[in-house]
Amino acid sequence: MGDLDTLLVVQQHDTAIDQLEHRRAHLPERAELSDVEERIAGVERRLADVGARREAIAERQGRHEHEIAAVEARIGDIEKRMYSGTVSASRELQAMAAEVEALKSRQSSLEDQVLAAMEEAEPVDDERAALTGERSGHDADAERLRAVIAEAEVAIDAELEVERAARAEAAAAVPQDLLATYERLRAKLGGVGAARLVGSSCGGCHLMLPATELDRIKKASADALVFCDQCGRILVH
Ligand SMILES: [Zn+2]
Repeated sequence: MGDLDTLLVVQQHDTAIDQLEHRRAHLPERAELSDVEERIAGVERRLADVGARREAIAERQGRHEHEIAAVEARIGDIEKRMYSGTVSASRELQAMAAEVEALKSRQSSLEDQVLAAMEEAEPVDDERAALTGERSGHDADAERLRAVIAEAEVAIDAELEVERAARAEAAAAVPQDLLATYERLRAKLGGVGAARLVGSSCGGCHLMLPATELDRIKKASADALVFCDQCGRILVH
């Protein structure tokens, strides 16, 4: 096999490697996964908002309960003194009874507020449970997609390894300067540095070669380095 034909073998492997790398980078599951990840982020934001609302309710409820405990303690203290027999002035006893009355009214109002807070928390808890369920669903989707991607990567990497080894073997048989020219053109021309002359067309740019050009190429020896006039690629003839 001539150097130019071997170079075409290198080109075939490079093209195959490019396609595999493109396939690896653009697996449809990657787009699906980023979609799911976006949805997870959205649910997380809503969960943070729900969590903040729930915390505010719990904090308010806690404050009321704390105050109820204080009011109860205060009532207990007063009643203990009232019934201890140490206070005998009826005006004072009346004042104490009035204070207990006022404290009990305060306690009742606080208990209503605790109940209201608990009622307010219910739909927020439901919302949080629904969002948590939604996130679990998305998490499961993401996990499945990651597994599919990982499996596809392993399969593509195995193909890449085979192609790269074959490419290295073919490239080793191509003279250094020819390979360097090819690589420079390939980098500049969308991955194709060498193409075969197919009929009267360049296999790289698919344009017909002018008759005079074609004639010149046909007269050149098979191993002469010829470039396509239109695209500049190495033309294997
Ligand atoms: Zn061309």
